[in-house]
Amino acid sequence: MNSSKIESRLALRARGKAPSPIREIFPLMSIPGMISFGGGYPNPDTFPFTRMKLCLRDGTELETDTPHLKKALQYGPSDSFLHAREQITRWHEHKDGVMPAEGSLVVLNGAQEGLFIAAYLFLEESDSVVVSEPTYPGALSAFGSFCRNFVAIPLDEYGMDTDALESVLENTKRDRKRLPKLIYTIPNGHNPGGVALSEERKEHLIRIAEEFDILIVEDDPYQLVRLDDSSPGRTLQAMDHEGRVIRLDSFSKVLSPGLRLGYASGDPVIMRHFLLFKQSANLHTSSLTQQMLAAHIEASEPEGFMSQIRESCRLYRSNRNSMVHAANELLPGSVEFDIPSEGLFIWFRLPSFCNAANMIKRYSRDLKVILVPGPAFSSTGGCTSCMRASYSMVRDDEIREGINRFAEMIRREERV
Ligand code: PMP
Repeated sequence: MNSSKIESRLALRARGKAPSPIREIFPLMSIPGMISFGGGYPNPDTFPFTRMKLCLRDGTELETDTPHLKKALQYGPSDSFLHAREQITRWHEHKDGVMPAEGSLVVLNGAQEGLFIAAYLFLEESDSVVVSEPTYPGALSAFGSFCRNFVAIPLDEYGMDTDALESVLENTKRDRKRLPKLIYTIPNGHNPGGVALSEERKEHLIRIAEEFDILIVEDDPYQLVRLDDSSPGRTLQAMDHEGRVIRLDSFSKVLSPGLRLGYASGDPVIMRHFLLFKQSANLHTSSLTQQMLAAHIEASEPEGFMSQIRESCRLYRSNRNSMVHAANELLPGSVEFDIPSEGLFIWFRLPSFCNAANMIKRYSRDLKVILVPGPAFSSTGGCTSCMRASYSMVRDDEIREGINRFAEMIRREERV
């Protein structure tokens, strides 16, 4: 998309934003011989920390020496800490086969920040966003900060129903109504649905976005949380030739959420606006956690990092298997669910007499089992008889017992 086309779809609040003059001269400061009176930086000689050592589970020790640590403790560029940018770029190319060009990647405080920035940049109160039903509540919260109009598209075992989306958009166009501003999608290990968008639907989604001229937000934190031997397939970003996919990657599920690290990648004009947002909101994502990530990827190489992730997924695979097994054995046959191939969740669709929110309120304390009631994931007040179960944090024996208690919860609800 050309730059004026992108600028013209920005929300008013994001238009005409000038870069921070101090941040703009930042690159000049690293020119050798430069005497800088610019930037209100604290003198790094005052920092109390001199070295950082990370001890990995396999016994490896990663040490950041004093000069590097001083840099990581200082203010840094708004888009990314240099060392991290190099490593994340390598990582992105390794896993997705897409090389982020100069200016097309911004490191974020997790993918959640990316959802908020996309909403801030593009959504006016009168706009609407396409989401699946159910969808990730954090996305509803981020988008809902600026607009409350959601176009809810059903989700099935192949992900968002793109035929349904196409016909909604055709009707909207035919009725000369305003088309949605963004299409939000979670292509792998959907939260809460536990399903993946099929390859055909990915292609269809890209064609739809092109035909109706809409931007896609590809939120993909579970891409590598793979439970079977399948590969994630091409990303929507890799299929997009018009720069209409804003891709959000996260290190939360494959490294650690407390680091608060993710990144956005996409059209450089859009990424420039992401960067301007960062300048206004928080200057940049912590350079220290970016350095931790960079040291880790550099030491293990992308291949090594990928094998560590695969190794970690064994725990989730075993838990998924236990939960599926227990659910098949212990839950009434009227409970439906899809078996996830990625991610951390199973989405249980209970018989219609079940009111998930009431069930949790009434029986959870007594039976000592918790699931998340469906309405949290709905933009329409729906999903009232659905519940999300996460198998990531429970032991094998707890899974069976937990599902047993869940079955009892359903029996009690049936007796009401
Ligand atoms: N998107 C989805 C679908 C998620 O499930 C989550 C985390 N629960 C996020 C985004 C936020 O991830 P992060 O920790 O990277 O901000």
